[in-house]
Amino acid sequence: MAHVIVITGPSGVGKGTVIRLLRERVPSVRLSISATTRAPRPGERDGIDYHFLATDDFDQMIADGAFVEHARYAGQQYGTLRSELEEGDDDGDVIVLEIELQGARQIRESMPAALQVFIAPPSFETLRERLVGRGTDSAQTIDERLTVAREELDAQGEFSEVIVNDRLGDAVDALELLVQGQLRGAVD
Ligand code: ADP
Ligand code: 5GP
Repeated sequence: MAHVIVITGPSGVGKGTVIRLLRERVPSVRLSISATTRAPRPGERDGIDYHFLATDDFDQMIADGAFVEHARYAGQQYGTLRSELEEGDDDGDVIVLEIELQGARQIRESMPAALQVFIAPPSFETLRERLVGRGTDSAQTIDERLTVAREELDAQGEFSEVIVNDRLGDAVDALELLVQGQLRGAVD
């Protein structure tokens, strides 16, 4: 069975960036491709960044039991497909689920052995600056995401591991240590 690592944290904290750099360092890390009803951002590709689904199709897949977890976030649906976890079930593999808080809670119930990592910003203001600086979201979307972020930050105590993404290289180092520990079976 592959090792499952859940990575959660507010939108804009740098989850995608940290995971991309981690995967360059540790090639056995695979990223689960989620399904979502939100529209692709410029440059995002179906089946690579997300499985982009119509709402009806997403609902049908919930009814079919296709998701190990799913949640509504800022007005859209997101979920982890069971089929993503069934691929490449090698002991030496790590599958990263980059998901929001409600999904992380569902996985904590259904897969208690999965490592749960929360990526936190150095400050709320830094989070706002990163979301604005990324330039992918409207002012309204940024406000919505920052509102959700307050709730998410309040829940970080639920996570066995918290990494503050201040200097990017340090955050990747910390995550790599956890992943290598998980691969060696050394994380308690
Ligand atoms: P998330 O996946 O959590 O929504 P992203 O990975 O898209 O976040 O990062 C949001 C923005 O913050 C991006 O523009 C990214 O380049 C930038 N960023 C990520 N980590 C850092 C960091 N440690 N220092 C400064 N900027 C960062
Ligand atoms: P974005 O729209 O910025 O890509 O993602 C918004 C939020 O949805 C992020 O917090 C991201 O981690 C989360 N997310 C992405 N995929 C999934 C998923 O499969 N399940 C859940 N629960 N959240 C997800």
